[in-house]
Amino acid sequence: MNSGIQASGQAAREVDAVVVGAGFSGMYMLHLLRQRGMSAVVFEAGDNVGGTWYWNRYPGARCDVESINYQYGFSDELQRNWNWTERYPTQPEIMKYMDYVADTLDLRRDIRFETRVTSAVYDEDSRRWTVSTNRGDVVSAQFCIMATGCLSAAQVPDIEGLKDFAGEWYHTGEWPHQGVDFTGKRVAVIGTGSSGVQAIPLIAEQASDLTVFQRTANFSLPAFNRPLQAGEHEAAKDSFLEERRKAEYTPAGANYPYNNQSALDVSRDEAFAELEKRWYEGGFAFLGAFNDIAVNLDSNALVSEFVRSKIAGVVNDPETAALLTPKDHPFGTKRLCLDTNYFETFNRPSVHLVNVRANPIERITPKGLVAGGKEYEFDAIVFATGFDAMTGALTRIDIRGEGGASLKDKWSAGPRCYLGLVSAGFPNMFTVTGPGSPSVLSVVIVAIEQHVEWIMECIDHMRAAGIETIDAEPDAENAWVQHVNDVANATLMPQANSWYMGANVPGKPRIFMPYVGGLDNYRRKCDAVAADGYEGFAFERERELAE
Ligand code: NAP
Repeated sequence: MNSGIQASGQAAREVDAVVVGAGFSGMYMLHLLRQRGMSAVVFEAGDNVGGTWYWNRYPGARCDVESINYQYGFSDELQRNWNWTERYPTQPEIMKYMDYVADTLDLRRDIRFETRVTSAVYDEDSRRWTVSTNRGDVVSAQFCIMATGCLSAAQVPDIEGLKDFAGEWYHTGEWPHQGVDFTGKRVAVIGTGSSGVQAIPLIAEQASDLTVFQRTANFSLPAFNRPLQAGEHEAAKDSFLEERRKAEYTPAGANYPYNNQSALDVSRDEAFAELEKRWYEGGFAFLGAFNDIAVNLDSNALVSEFVRSKIAGVVNDPETAALLTPKDHPFGTKRLCLDTNYFETFNRPSVHLVNVRANPIERITPKGLVAGGKEYEFDAIVFATGFDAMTGALTRIDIRGEGGASLKDKWSAGPRCYLGLVSAGFPNMFTVTGPGSPSVLSVVIVAIEQHVEWIMECIDHMRAAGIETIDAEPDAENAWVQHVNDVANATLMPQANSWYMGANVPGKPRIFMPYVGGLDNYRRKCDAVAADGYEGFAFERERELAE
């Protein structure tokens, strides 16, 4: 249990760094800080490590990056002593892995669990951050590292009447730890993104009746999950680090077989043959089939047509198949889903699909909900409605930088961050996988390691050179934000109403938040910035040197 650091009102305990969040980012950050002999405390709202994976316990929760690639790449010992059991790891297995890492690296003693950071305030005189929590902790730190995750602020839509609903309701991203038994129940699932697509087949197996409320039909690829065969993971261990080093310099942080050819440079039959081959291999390697799927509407249309034909081939009822077929955005411009039996589930007589676009949800009633003028009755409602992605976890904390300026206000027209690492006016605050970095467009653990290592090396540099603070230069930040937008606008990505664009949260500015220029290019840019004396960053030396 949390013992607290310091009750408010007393002098704050001083540490070198506060880390917010004990997911993959915060755990690795803590490990590196401790290796340097720096004092650090991690605040974590959950009662265990895990971050996003701690909260997303809905039925079917599973990572859609292959397990062998979904682990830390900084330690040979860690990877050699761990065994994955399936091609894609389940949420419980990822939690076991994170427990294993926390135990092996003895991380827990510096993590304050069940403690949510409420504010972080920068003091220009002391050049330190004061971080406060909901348990009365007040800590003063030179560095504040936000390892808060991109998909951690759950978004429950503001639908009138929810508080009057007599049944149970859940959000996939805040799932009860004891699990939920839907046996014999009439269940509604709202939302058909990755979480809904994974949860729906399993909820359908239990529920007596399941109604799916779909606003946007999504492209989903078959995962073809399977148990790893005896020795399969063992065999991959010898080459794991070498493979990871290569993956770090690929666009998505994964050694997918990339075909450097346009879909338009081959005949339609050849294109479909390539897609067919990749389809049955399963997973996101499908995206590497051609080099212009994300930028050329005609290539994209060909791929979209192929994927649409697969839906028609699985779903028996033509009307349901038509409704499940994405038509309003190019393939891959919303986050692709990976599924196991998603479309097949709609062939079950107990599963129904409601088009929320045509029949919007009007209100929730004590018995269920009203959509398109019709009342549906349920025992349980599941919100698979996603997250206030990339910014929500940060803007929900009262963060005050120089002059008391609030980060939330600064980002009110869209997040502004140099390299997704530091936002000007918030010295010594780093964001791991922040907006403007590739983060969610890559295998996120590869992106996380790159950020954590860059931040650590930057702090090493500062300490060695007697530098007290780092801040982003406004011009460099503006140029980077412009570049992030320009690169996105050269692709088809902004054409979709995606959470990448903030489109899922009413009132959120429509800005493409992650960096779509590739993890490889981004990494080179970050390395070059560091090599160039941290170009675009402003340092302030330690006070006695400056005065
Ligand atoms: P999401 O992709 O944002 O999907 C939310 C769904 O809810 C969408 O279908 C959305 O419709 C719908 N929705 C939102 N508000 C609604 C409203 N008021 N009325 C009706 N429908 C509404 O969220 P998610 O599925 O939780 O996934 C978020 C991200 O987390 C994923 O894209 C992925 O990056 C990550 N994730 C990964 C995995 C994995 O690795 N396997 C699993 C789960 C999640 P619209 O599309 O029309 O907005």
